[in-house]
Amino acid sequence: MSVERVLLASPRGFCAGVEKAIKALDWMTKVFEPPVYCYHEIVHNAHVVEHFKSLGVIFIDDVSEAPPGSPIMLSAHGSPPSVITAARSNGGTVVDAVCPLVTKVHHELKVRSRKGYTVLYVGHEGHEEAVGTMAVAPESVHLIQTTSDIDAVANGPGPFAMLSQTTLSLDEWQHLRDYALEKIPELWLPNRSDLCFATTNRQAALRMLSGEADSVVVIGSGNSSNTVALTKVAESAGVQRVFRVNSAEELPVDLTGSVAVTAGASAPESLVEAVVERLQPHSGVYVNPVTIEDEYFPPPPELREILRSLEVVAKAVFTGEISGEDVTVRDREFAAADVLAD
Ligand code: SF4
Repeated sequence: MSVERVLLASPRGFCAGVEKAIKALDWMTKVFEPPVYCYHEIVHNAHVVEHFKSLGVIFIDDVSEAPPGSPIMLSAHGSPPSVITAARSNGGTVVDAVCPLVTKVHHELKVRSRKGYTVLYVGHEGHEEAVGTMAVAPESVHLIQTTSDIDAVANGPGPFAMLSQTTLSLDEWQHLRDYALEKIPELWLPNRSDLCFATTNRQAALRMLSGEADSVVVIGSGNSSNTVALTKVAESAGVQRVFRVNSAEELPVDLTGSVAVTAGASAPESLVEAVVERLQPHSGVYVNPVTIEDEYFPPPPELREILRSLEVVAKAVFTGEISGEDVTVRDREFAAADVLAD
């Protein structure tokens, strides 16, 4: 391998929603006796999932697998209402780590459905976020993956609205939106697309580097939608060699010239560091951020309540005082990367 330079995309890796979910599950492992049950992978990254398995978290695909009374966390991708109900009736504490930007789409779908719209939902079949969102109003929503899916719906009863999964490639979404607008000029769309800031920022950062790169390495898991979207961005920018790797060990050995490196929103920075170390660029690493992300999502409300109560009890026991510190202050003091490095 003879890599001249590494062009490091910025922003890359963990987004605010993933930070929130990882730290919330970490709090759960500290507050409850193991095992804590987690419905679906907390985020789509094998390294993160393995870390939590080592702490006694059991990942399940059906909440009935959790014994009655056990603590359950619901993943960042958002869960169908029936799953939330089943988890709550299991008798234990339930903490929902859904990203607020996914919740926003659930809410949009609920509102459009109530107003009588037929909703075209651009998403990927079987992806947990798409499954969870569509379950909010299954009677009103149609999954859109291709232009023929739009054709199939456009002749049915209106009015029509279009929503989308938060982690799609911008090109894919724009193509389907433009086609839908041609077919249905009165189509209702949200003021801003449902693609989240983390998805669009990571794609913009990679797009900016793609023109200078001989190859692109995207770090992240194959079931991570925003990771796969990053590979599509590089391919559509004309980069000849695009690789998605789970870790540095999967890097091809014949990379040369300028290599752009990025990471999906659920991939830890430690994987990026290992990839750069393995690439050993002769003339160094170049970073040119397209934007600085400073979004912060506080812990889920149910967890905040538990932590606040523990705080009050601990303070009362040790100091005799009764006061409830805002737990988000402490939560802000550490990053998901610290949790994983522990
Ligand atoms: S990628 Fe976007 S929607 Fe998904 S967790 Fe991150 S901020 Fe939330």
